Amino acid sequence: MYATLASIFDHTVSLHPEREAFVDLRRNKRWTYAQWRDDVHRLANALTAAGVTKGDRVSTYLFNNQELATALFACAKIGAIFNPINFRLKAEELAFIIEDAKPEVVLFEEVLEGVVQTIAPQFPAVQFWTIDDKTPSFAKNYHEQVDGASKEDPGVEVDESDTYAIMYTSGTTGRPKGVIHRHRSMAEQSMMCIAMLKTTKNDVGLVAAPMFHCAELHCNIIPRVQAGASSIIMHQFDPFLALDTIEKERVTVMFAVPTMWSMISEIDGAQQKVTSLTRGLYGAAPMAPVLVKRVKEVLGIDLIQAYGQTEMGPAITFLSEEDQLTKAGSAGQPAYNHEIRVVRPNEDGPSEPEDVLAPFEVGEIIVRGPSMMAGYFQREDATEKALYKGWYHSSDLGYMDKQGYLYVADRVDDMIISGGENIYPREVEDALHGHDKVQDVAVLGVPDEKWGESVLAFVVSKDPSLTEQELEEYCVNHENLARYKRPRSYRFVDELPRNASGKIQKFLLREQYRELSS
Ligand code: ATP
Repeated sequence: MYATLASIFDHTVSLHPEREAFVDLRRNKRWTYAQWRDDVHRLANALTAAGVTKGDRVSTYLFNNQELATALFACAKIGAIFNPINFRLKAEELAFIIEDAKPEVVLFEEVLEGVVQTIAPQFPAVQFWTIDDKTPSFAKNYHEQVDGASKEDPGVEVDESDTYAIMYTSGTTGRPKGVIHRHRSMAEQSMMCIAMLKTTKNDVGLVAAPMFHCAELHCNIIPRVQAGASSIIMHQFDPFLALDTIEKERVTVMFAVPTMWSMISEIDGAQQKVTSLTRGLYGAAPMAPVLVKRVKEVLGIDLIQAYGQTEMGPAITFLSEEDQLTKAGSAGQPAYNHEIRVVRPNEDGPSEPEDVLAPFEVGEIIVRGPSMMAGYFQREDATEKALYKGWYHSSDLGYMDKQGYLYVADRVDDMIISGGENIYPREVEDALHGHDKVQDVAVLGVPDEKWGESVLAFVVSKDPSLTEQELEEYCVNHENLARYKRPRSYRFVDELPRNASGKIQKFLLREQYRELSS
């Protein structure tokens, strides 16, 4: 058994049965580890009774609920493969994943019933279980299946080399790919996060970011379970509820994507409500250094950045609280047991791991470490390319400074080449974020007859008086923005499309641009 998620769970339950494991704010319910163990065992036994055996998939299509964490560990106890699905996916995307992963059971909730109902007839062999009271005719009720099941340990032998989960990447560049993680790789990621984030049994974590995403699940929830700490689950992010909960429950730590931190810091009186927070974690998407500074000043808390990819479990670097200001803009140093290189990009295939670039030279970020994925589910070609010579090739561009701090420039696909010069949109976005009237910004390259590509900025303004001319003048006077990097045009929009983990969906902005200019 050794390093499995089941052994992590058993260990904590035996050491800390009376400590609080979860609080579900939606249902106003609390569980000690002993009470939660019973839930996990009941679900494990109910899944077995429903025909789920070792290696079968169990999916969740849920917002943040205790049942998502329960399903993760119930699957771990019987060797089933856990498959958390993004609740923002629409019918066609959900159907694609169900077709690909072929789960035996899918857990869903009432607010998502409409989407599930549209696709359920395509999958007569799949059992859909609702976690809420109202049970539509195509589904079974979770509680009817689970509440009467045995709370004894199901006693299935699971090995550390068995697959723990398949997690689908967002698929912004093509169809989503299922990332396979083994038990061992997640046990490694959990221990590493405990060490890097100094997680202890006295932590009370607020679950604000989506639980289906590996950043919340693997860097926060699983490490807290391993440490015997408590997790307070917010069904969907709400900045006012987050602040009230931090104050009431004396929350010590929260992971949030950059937009969530910005929203919280804009609320009057926020600082008085977060006095129990000993640290705040941000990541999953870039955060402009001016925003990090603002959040830190307004809330008065220590911030830590994590950078990584689903394929790596996800965290591969951390920027510590001490480095936030001196190394602003950096993603930090490699996490324990992780090795990172910046190598020369290769247009004809995967970059060569030996072709390491000098400090400050921009290239592809590659990494290896114990929490690396086993591969993509049923995608041998993609696996071979991504894990070429034992290194995960991230498709992120970046550079190292002389002290080994990593700076992420941009995704390979987002880099702009204008008049033969490389422009990293993030640099321009970080500069524009410094303008007082700019709320949010996304920069992309658009076709240009003269320059090949030119820089276009989508801007959400805080103040309707903001003009293109004002932004142009600001860029002309900006010390870090060479002439060729300045946007040639601006589009003012009400908001930017972001995915559940806070990333700007630039492919949607490109579509919007094409439609407007055709
Ligand atoms: P989704 O977020 O919907 O799951 P995805 O499939 O791209 O999208 P991830 O694996 O979470 O999922 O995304 C990894 C990418 O996110 C990284 O390769 C990087 O481009 C970006 N990213 C993650 N953390 C940071 C960070 N701290 N700073 C900048 N970019 C980041």
